[in-house]
Order: sequence, then structure tokens, then C-alpha cells
Amino acid sequence: MDKANLKDHRQIGQELEIFMVNELAPGTIFWLPKGMTIVKQLEKFIRSQNEIHGFQEVQTPILVKSDIFQQSGHFKYYEHSMYNMEIEHERYSLKPMNCPETALIYKSKTRSYKDLPLRYSEYGRLHRRELSGVVGGLLRVIEFTQDDGHVFLKSDQLENEVLSILKWVSQFHALMGFPSKFYLGTKPDKALGDAKIWQMAEASLKNALKKSGVNFEIREKDGVFYGPKIDIDITDIQNRTWTVSTIQTDFNIPKQFDLEYVDEDGKSQKPVMIHRSIIGSFERFIGILLEHYQGAFPVWLAPVQVVIMPITDRQEEHAKKIVEELKENGIRAELDNRAERLQAKIRDGSLQKVPYLGIIGDKEVQSYEESLISVRKRNGEDLGQLKLSDFIKRLKEEIDKKI
Ligand SMILES: [Zn+2]
Repeated sequence: MDKANLKDHRQIGQELEIFMVNELAPGTIFWLPKGMTIVKQLEKFIRSQNEIHGFQEVQTPILVKSDIFQQSGHFKYYEHSMYNMEIEHERYSLKPMNCPETALIYKSKTRSYKDLPLRYSEYGRLHRRELSGVVGGLLRVIEFTQDDGHVFLKSDQLENEVLSILKWVSQFHALMGFPSKFYLGTKPDKALGDAKIWQMAEASLKNALKKSGVNFEIREKDGVFYGPKIDIDITDIQNRTWTVSTIQTDFNIPKQFDLEYVDEDGKSQKPVMIHRSIIGSFERFIGILLEHYQGAFPVWLAPVQVVIMPITDRQEEHAKKIVEELKENGIRAELDNRAERLQAKIRDGSLQKVPYLGIIGDKEVQSYEESLISVRKRNGEDLGQLKLSDFIKRLKEEIDKKI
């Protein structure tokens, strides 16, 4: 891989019209329609995976009284990384994480051991302060959307739950084309909760890592003060590593919010909480993807999947009908009817990294029984003339298989 030819995600983002920034909203992202298509496809995929894994989606308020972060204990460590303000003599904050408010949902009714594990997912819009000098592009932002998930469970359910998340995470990264590596962070010097519960949680996480068959190492004392964690690093085509996914256990929030469930004997017990994220933030993950694929997204994520190019005005009506038919089949297709030469249209389509370019000339229009289309891939490969129905079938298969 010749690194000299690789582009920065900000350049790719501009050339492909994925996102923009504006000095009036420093450290935040304006998603343009093509970028929003990528966000929506990722959201859709993760949402379907969440449902398969038993997560119920919730949404908690962005603006909330600071008291909740006093109660959770975050304010003590985190106050200066938060946006805090006074409204009608009360202190409010923009939430920097979703966990404390998710604890309020857990607490909103009596929970039985039969309800556990109880899993909530959220696409939470979060705000965390960064120095204005270090923000830029998608990789470092002050406002971002996390694909968050929280599980409340009994301590003897921890190993199986973590195992299930580990399998999910490693499958996801393989699908996206990233090798991944897992790190278990154990008890740090400053830690909350008694030694016994730490030992139990560390053993559960370690067993889950062993059973999952993933490549892992132990990072001594790298856990969070509220529980041991697993960080998952991915490696991109430039051999850079990024921590995108995380699985953290938490004994602190259940204690701070006095969370309980009723056990088999009718007694009150404290659940353990897991925080988990598969991609981290959408902003950062798409920034990594832009550089990893250099804008050439797999078909299922590509903002435009096919551009149809009539060679002359004579084929324009026919080309429009083909675009309509592709759209009716759920394929993101566009028409390039500019008064440009075909070579220029092909070059522009390839530069825009559109996976398939469909060319319609007199030969293709003449077929009365079945529409024909001459198909090229963005890398220049010529697939020749295909029946439209076969082309649609091929695209649908690739989208289904996420390739
Ligand atoms: Zn959390």
C-alpha cells in the first residue's frame, strides 16, 4: 500500500460530499445527504443486530439537570468536560453519556430476576468538551452519536452476556474488513467496589474471552474505577489501530442509583450493569471508514450504488425508466444526463467511487423483450451487457450479503 497516495478523510469527505463543517458550530458535523445515507445504513444494520440480541431501543433527554451527574458521581471527575448552564436558577448539563438516565429507566418499575438480563440500546447524542485547537474533521468532535447499549443482569449471567457481545463485535469488524484485537483491563489502584466482586467480574470477562476464541491480551490495572472492561482495537489499511468498541462492567451506577431486582427468594439484590458500544461514535467510525476504504464503500453502504448514463439524448427516456426500476427495487440509483461525453461521465462516476456505472446506448435500447444495460465497475472492470433483471438480482445479493 502506497501511503503517499492515501487521502485524509476530510479531503475524501469534501470530494464525495459526505460532510461539512462550519466555524459557527466548531467541533460538530453537518452531514450532507450522502453522508447521512451512510449514517442511516449503519444505524439500520446495528438496529437490526440490536433486535436480534434482545436490546430494546430507548431515547433519553440530551438536556438534563446536573443533579443526575452528581448522583452518578460523574460530576466530580467530569465537570470540566461537560457543557453546564444555568436555566431559571437551576443547573443543567448536556449529557456526556447515556448511562445515568438509562438507570432512571431501569428504576422506573420493580424488576424481577426473571426480567434479567434487561438490555437497552440508544443512539445517544452526546456532548463532551475538547479544546478548540484539537477538534477537526470526524475523528475529534464535541458532539457525537454513540451506538450505546446497557445491560442490567445478575452477576452469574455476566460471562454468557459478554461472550455473546464479543462474538457480535468480532463478526461486525470482520464484515467491515478490520482485523481486531481484544484487551482485558483489570482492577486499577483506585477502584470502587469490594475485591470479591472485582474478582468475579474479571474471571467472567476472562472466561468469555477464552470461550469466544478471539485474540486477546491482559492490560493490568487498565480497568475503569467502576469495573473491569474489554477494549476492542481495530487495524485499518494504514496499519493504525483505533479503539472503537468497548464492553465495561459497572458496579458503581447500580449502587449510586440504588438499583435493585427481586430474586427467587423475594429478596432485593443489586444488578451488575454493562456498558457496550459496537462502533463507538458514528462520526469517528465513519471517519475511519472513509480513510480505510478511501471513499470506495462496499455496495451496501455506498451513498449512490449505481449511476445510469445515457450516451446521447436519444436514450434519456429509457435511462430514466431504468433508474425508476432500480429505485423501486430499493437500489440507490442516479441518472447522469449531463451534456458530457461518455468518457467524462465514466471518469466522474469512478472518481465519486460509485460501485456500478450503467451505460445505455442505442444497442441497449433496441432490446424489446428485456432491458439491457452495459455495466462497468468503479475500478474499470467491464462486466459487458447484462439483462436489467440479472443486474438487479446481483445488486440485491451484494446488498444482502453486505459486500
Ligand atoms: Zn454507559
